[in-house]
Amino acid sequence: MSSWVVLKFGGTSVSSVEKWQTIAAIVQQKIQQGQRVLLVHSAASGITNLLTEKTTANRSIQQAVTEVLTTLAAQLGVDPQQLEPSLDLLRSLDDRDHLDTWEQAQLLSMGEQCTHVLAMAYLQQHLDIQSLNPKDWLISSDHDKRATDAQILTAKCDIKPDPAKQQSLTGACYAMPGFMAGDSQGRTVLLGRGGSDTSAAYMAVLLGASQLEIWTDVHGIFSANPHSIPNARLLLNLSYQEAREIAASGGKVLHPRCILPVEQHGIPLLIKNTNEPAAIGTVLAAAHTPKKPRVSAINNRHQITLVSMESINMWHQAGFMGDVFNIYKQLGLSIDLVSTAQTNITISLDNIDNVITDAVLRELKQALSPLCEVEVFRNCSAVTLVGYRIRALADKIAPVLSTFADQRIYITTQSSNDLNQTFVVDEDQADKLARALHEVLIIEDKELDDFGPTWAELIHNQTSKSERIPAWWQDHRESLLDLSRDHAPCYVYHLPTIQHQIEQLQKITAVDRFYYASKANSHPAILAHMQAHGVNLETVSPQEINQVEQACPGIAAADILFTPNFAPLKEYQAALAKGVQVTIDNPSLLFDYPEVFRGHAVILRLDPGHGSGHHRYVRTAGTHSKFGIPASEVEPVAKWCQQHDIEVKGLHAHAGSGILDHNNWSRIAEYLGSCLELFPAAKIINVGGGLGIRENPGDFGLDLAQLNHALTAFKQQHHGIELWMEPGRFLVAHCGVLLARVTQTKWKGRQGYIGIETGMNSLIRPALYGAWHNIVNLSQLDQATEYTANVVGPMCETGDVLGVDRKMPLTQVDDVLLIANTGAYGAVMASRYNLREPAQEIIFPD
Ligand SMILES: *Cc1c(COP(=O)(O)O)cnc(C)c1O
Repeated sequence: MSSWVVLKFGGTSVSSVEKWQTIAAIVQQKIQQGQRVLLVHSAASGITNLLTEKTTANRSIQQAVTEVLTTLAAQLGVDPQQLEPSLDLLRSLDDRDHLDTWEQAQLLSMGEQCTHVLAMAYLQQHLDIQSLNPKDWLISSDHDKRATDAQILTAKCDIKPDPAKQQSLTGACYAMPGFMAGDSQGRTVLLGRGGSDTSAAYMAVLLGASQLEIWTDVHGIFSANPHSIPNARLLLNLSYQEAREIAASGGKVLHPRCILPVEQHGIPLLIKNTNEPAAIGTVLAAAHTPKKPRVSAINNRHQITLVSMESINMWHQAGFMGDVFNIYKQLGLSIDLVSTAQTNITISLDNIDNVITDAVLRELKQALSPLCEVEVFRNCSAVTLVGYRIRALADKIAPVLSTFADQRIYITTQSSNDLNQTFVVDEDQADKLARALHEVLIIEDKELDDFGPTWAELIHNQTSKSERIPAWWQDHRESLLDLSRDHAPCYVYHLPTIQHQIEQLQKITAVDRFYYASKANSHPAILAHMQAHGVNLETVSPQEINQVEQACPGIAAADILFTPNFAPLKEYQAALAKGVQVTIDNPSLLFDYPEVFRGHAVILRLDPGHGSGHHRYVRTAGTHSKFGIPASEVEPVAKWCQQHDIEVKGLHAHAGSGILDHNNWSRIAEYLGSCLELFPAAKIINVGGGLGIRENPGDFGLDLAQLNHALTAFKQQHHGIELWMEPGRFLVAHCGVLLARVTQTKWKGRQGYIGIETGMNSLIRPALYGAWHNIVNLSQLDQATEYTANVVGPMCETGDVLGVDRKMPLTQVDDVLLIANTGAYGAVMASRYNLREPAQEIIFPD
């Protein structure tokens, strides 16, 4: 009999008819090559998150889940009626107020099961394929000694090749839902996070497969997180051990649990990109142990808490460590890194499921206090190098660390197997350190085997194909080249694109009022366009208020929102005098100057406790950020306002920028909603902005339908509440392009450089956030790309880079480059650094 191959497809790979067409084609090809195929799939994306909302927040989800599934059924052209038996079960579980752990497992497995029903109906039209029930194949271990909940939700199976079961399969092609398994009594259990990968790995072992292929939405494992380091390189060959270390140190592509089974049985594991099936990927195999010392990947894990324990008693005292660690055990805290000295032990705690709360830390300090002095550092990040014989690379690592001398490196640990080395630093240093190490250890070393193209290079091919909605500038090449002749360097803004975004936004029908965050782009024509089309304006400085008043004559002061932060008192006074709506985000203003606010109606900005966003500088909630009234102060502030005749008419929170998780705003609304009882006069809930756009080519856009759905549910529970939202980037990012002429080109070894006439003085986002912007040569738009280059500006600063490792056509001096999606936070963040005037701004004459 021919050999088995197990193919696993994740959530985003099974959520549209196009993806299922690709899957059918891939399966077909394997069968034609004489292989037998088992396809393991996840739930269509979004469903598992919804189901989790039921199990964690007891929010009813049947309607939302049904919508996702019926949409997919319609796309696939299959009868949704087939889902009814599964949906009946789902509804009966959803209707219950409390689910025990068994029932939770049952509910959480419904995403995979329902997707499976639709998948089979679709695939059977194209393939001779049969369904396998995971509960017949994956049976959880009877020897698991962990707590019952863990046995149910993150079950382990004792799996070995099973010739008898293999023989029971006579067909060439099967499919199975992932993530779920059965226990010995036939009840549903789950395989935990990344569970479908584990299902596929188990099945590969059981069937004695020749290969396991994990199909996902990235090309494979990269040498760093491409979203912060776009020139991260694809790793072509990895040993299982290295891959496990990478997964454990923060790499997101594979879950460590799925590697062990295939490692133990020597089954090669291939990672492939469903969006580009023909492209190369990463292969894990036993033979891939590197020959010479190398670092293969550098990853960051954020939200690490450090505990430093100091005591002279530990010196030569038997059992001291045991006593200390026992306390952690009793509090259920799992220790990650440990470093010890004669009188100090420092350990790190991973905050995986938000278990490290202030209360837990208080308890920990108290329990440890008889033994030692305790100091806690929150908001640290671990930067981990994974590789092979890393110690041999100390001469390259040390100089990088020395440039961080003024920053604190809290702990350094090295594993005894020499496969990883970790530095724990303050969260705001982690990205910088990772980037510097990546540059020296991976990018500068051109001799390294096993490294493929960079993410930026790979994504170039994908963007040209996958950008389904053509950008506005593609149709206006000649006019833009004309404009650049007299005006470059210049930003060009396209108002119809803004109009398109406004119309998208208006699909969020749960929101009563939109306020455009004018700091994203305060060009007068853009402000006027917003006002003319029913979008109000949000400002953060008196200058922005003036700009709005000038650009929008006749605007009512009350339609302007003022949300400053640490601004001088007189700015609040001036705004109140004008009748502008003021939002206050610091209790001390109210406590120190109650007279200023007496008799006025204000909105309070609260800190919902955790931020989100594309970069830590733009996360604007959580203790690490300077914004908002912390939860502990809300009640005293409420009392104070009541005593001093300050009316609180609404509550506001803004979690950050570039957020693609559609549940963010309903979560904020829930938090603000939970505070409403303290503020009887409050009728407005402002959930802030931060709506992300497709910025990186690998991103999926924000799901506005889901966002609206969640906010609608919130409104249904809070009658008479008006919802406000303040998007900035979402409205204007796509409308702008930056045009600049090429000044010079240069080669340094294999590294090409294309210099243009303006740089970080016009667009600082790449230098500041590592932001990725598409860059094309507008003069040579139809030419094939020939080489890879960094696009740089003329500023005297190494950070003056606009794009790293970009595939470009042959580029000549005076060609015009276009940098896309620069309508938000471009011109408004420009400077005169080096006394170079930044690019001017032009409205595209349409
Ligand atoms: C910056 C800002 C926004 C807009 O953020 P975007 O990411 O551009 O949507 C909204 N509200 C407040 C208070 C802000 O500071």
